[in-house]
Amino acid sequence: MRRCRSGRCATPDLRMADAARQIDQIDTAARFTAADAEALNARFAAVPTRTMLTTVLAEGLAGRIAAVSSFGAESAVLLHLLADIDRNVPVLFLDTGKHFPETLAYRDELAARLGLTGLINLTPDTEMLAERDESGLRWSYDPDGCCEIRKVQPLARALADFDASFTGRKGFQSATRAGLPRFELDTTDAAGRLKVNPLADWSSDQIAAYFKAAGLPAHPLVAEGYPSIGCSPCTTKVAAGEDPRSGRWKGWDKTECGIHVPGQDDAAGDLPPGFDPVF
Ligand code: SF4
Repeated sequence: MRRCRSGRCATPDLRMADAARQIDQIDTAARFTAADAEALNARFAAVPTRTMLTTVLAEGLAGRIAAVSSFGAESAVLLHLLADIDRNVPVLFLDTGKHFPETLAYRDELAARLGLTGLINLTPDTEMLAERDESGLRWSYDPDGCCEIRKVQPLARALADFDASFTGRKGFQSATRAGLPRFELDTTDAAGRLKVNPLADWSSDQIAAYFKAAGLPAHPLVAEGYPSIGCSPCTTKVAAGEDPRSGRWKGWDKTECGIHVPGQDDAAGDLPPGFDPVF
């Protein structure tokens, strides 16, 4: 049956059905824009973190959202805040196969203690691992490529189901994170996802005070001199007064694992120094 496209040659019922069909069309536009992120930053300027989180979740301002957590030194704060509001928020953990056993035990302890029901462990693609990191030593000669296989790709696959993600990043962690906004556009691909950094403006003292007030358990490696904890081959101890993230990829000009790095289709093409996967 030919369909009237003008809307003038059909009965009202058919015109309504036609309108409904047009609404059903697949929308391939980006979910959010930089202007959306700016508007959210303006709306929540000076609004306490817990209130902001409650509103974002209750009003669905970020659409389908998941938290990305490393279950590292300070992760418990964001997870506790979220669990207080909604224990069912999906929590994505990049199970790279290279974590300290202490991190895996801490993940399980924290998830059970906070009653997190949405923990999802993301593992690397086994074929890709066999093809490109059969020895398991790629981290030693191509850490960007190793992160690409074990972190970036698994997260990209998982985030395809979401419109936004919560991160635990803070501005004080390193020079490259200074001035981090609460809301920003996720530029790792062109999907236009939102990245929400609820703790962006928190200080190290605030984090410590929250741990104490909430009675949160510390990651066991913090007491051993690790203020920032990632995969075991790429994490070293940090001396007092040093940048907390300076123990990550020590000896390499690499500061991020790639999950917060602009993708190749980013208009600015603005890769951080040293981020250069070999493949
Ligand atoms: S942090 Fe190190 S071991 Fe972990 S995925 Fe990246 S390069 Fe590989």
